[in-house]
Amino acid sequence: MRVALLLTAGAFAAGCVPAPTTSPLPQAAATSLYMPRAVRQAYLKGTRSPDGRPGTNYWQNRGRYNIAITALPPDRTVLGSEEITYFNNSPDTIRTPVIRLFLNIHKPSAPRNGRASAAYLTSGVHIDSLAVNGQLTPWPGSENTFTFQQLRLATPLLPHDSVHLSFKWHYEISVQSGREGMLDSTTYFLAYFYPRVAVYDDYNGWDTMPFTDVQEFYSDFNDYNVAITVPANYVVWGTGTLLNPSEVLQPAALERFNRSFTSDQTINVATRADMAAKAITRQSMNTWRFRAANIPDMTFNLSDHYVWDGASVVVDDATHRRASAQAAYNDTATDFHHMVQYARYALDWLSHNWPGVPYPYEKTTVVEGFAGMEYPMMVNDESYADTVFSRFVVEHEIAHTYFPFYMGINESRYAMMDEGWATTLEYLIGISRLGKERESAFFDRFRVIGWATNPTPLGDLPIITPADGLSPGAYGDNAYGKSALAYLALKDLLGDATFGTALHAFMERWHGKHPIPWDFFNTVNDVTGRNLNWFWNSWFFSNGYIDLAISTVTRTGGGYAVSIDNIGGMPTPVDLQARYADGSTDVIHETPAIWEANQRRATVSIPTRKSLEALVLNGGIWLDADSANNRWSQRP
Ligand SMILES: [Zn+2]
Repeated sequence: MRVALLLTAGAFAAGCVPAPTTSPLPQAAATSLYMPRAVRQAYLKGTRSPDGRPGTNYWQNRGRYNIAITALPPDRTVLGSEEITYFNNSPDTIRTPVIRLFLNIHKPSAPRNGRASAAYLTSGVHIDSLAVNGQLTPWPGSENTFTFQQLRLATPLLPHDSVHLSFKWHYEISVQSGREGMLDSTTYFLAYFYPRVAVYDDYNGWDTMPFTDVQEFYSDFNDYNVAITVPANYVVWGTGTLLNPSEVLQPAALERFNRSFTSDQTINVATRADMAAKAITRQSMNTWRFRAANIPDMTFNLSDHYVWDGASVVVDDATHRRASAQAAYNDTATDFHHMVQYARYALDWLSHNWPGVPYPYEKTTVVEGFAGMEYPMMVNDESYADTVFSRFVVEHEIAHTYFPFYMGINESRYAMMDEGWATTLEYLIGISRLGKERESAFFDRFRVIGWATNPTPLGDLPIITPADGLSPGAYGDNAYGKSALAYLALKDLLGDATFGTALHAFMERWHGKHPIPWDFFNTVNDVTGRNLNWFWNSWFFSNGYIDLAISTVTRTGGGYAVSIDNIGGMPTPVDLQARYADGSTDVIHETPAIWEANQRRATVSIPTRKSLEALVLNGGIWLDADSANNRWSQRP
């Protein structure tokens, strides 16, 4: 997240999918769920399958990146060189690949959503040289090159061939830090720092969405070797395996570092005193080498005074694999002294509960910065006086490990699959610590009420609206709370066991790939054997909001029939709180299934022999926009 932004009737799978020879599209999905023409083409080409699986013709491109960086703080210049081998697995001939240069967001004239202070501005990324297949090639960028630049290849890149790109570049790190930049004069957070080939995919072609600092990222799964050269006494934390700890750490620090990988207890790998005494790194320029395979990005932090904690936790009971939890921070940040244990809790809980998939990487490192931002194996969080809030933020960011990173989500277009899932997981893990009542109150205040009570048309834009077409306010509603409410309503509808089965099937089918929302909808329809298109339509493709009303209450032979109008149109769960004449009370819970037959009106039966005195409709976290029509009583 950015904290700042917040201040597929019947047996669908069994009988309704026509054979691919007659039509590649499932009739139900084709007729009732909107599908953009470009996505429809992907189904026609067989890169995606109507049952929700990757299609038999599915492909994605990838790169091998060898990167060398030199940073000599307080000099703000960061120097880089890299060798990229880019593999074209597509059936297309590539003539004009697109290179991403995210840090050009700092150029004074770059299009960006917010205002930029002088401390944010830099001259951007300077490409010092480019070679294509070993041939020096003029860099085609200009002063008007911002966050992406098209190249024209002298020799087209054929299907199933590769191209070799060599870049040398430098940039001045931004004084004002956001998702990246200087954390202080000798602590640099390096993210999005290297030229990379943009995603070229089967449903969108080249990803040329400008990065304007609202919508986030979309990355291929690449293999990386990154070497970061820094002065003595600088520690480098980052994505991937640190390959040469014995070359860069002094023996005592190395022993503590190694021990942290098997320790439940927090080990202070480097204290403030250790850093001041220059007792951590080898006393020379050091090159810290990191490697990670099949991962969407690499991010690093370097500092000469941040302290360093580590511990670990079992994330996979079958293999007893442990994941490392590390923290890097100013010793003055009191909440960060607990951060390794907060992170351990998150790794453990997420692995064993929801999503209930073993944490897929070897570690996470939580760095004290200013972003409230996720990166593969890295988190950049602010320090807070309120440790409840610190835990909330770090749990959210670590939850992002699954969505977007493990799942390869296009965050910039389908933020509902990124922030929406992270927010869902944040709520569920929050309940495990705070209890449902307290967590729900927090969730309502922080994630729901802004949307629930927003009467403007921006709040009503369907969740499926491409995130890159949304203003920040509408993006915030759709990406976070609204999407999470949809997934949580699905969980209530299906029940935990079926919801888990469907979610795991989706994750198993698509991790390491690039799923889009239709892949999720079709997978859930397929795995549950139910056509849930009525549910997807209402939650994701409609202008709905949440407003239920008690319409009529009728005495029946066996009790009462309560007619509920769904004014807003969202198929939410319903809790009917009943009070009887004898003073007793009851809560009747209905899942969103009550809206399957008719999305505008449902009847709830209350089987009772008692005399009903009053009823209250309580949506819980599905906050009702107008609660004035949520009450009924025998004597008005
Ligand atoms: Zn997030």
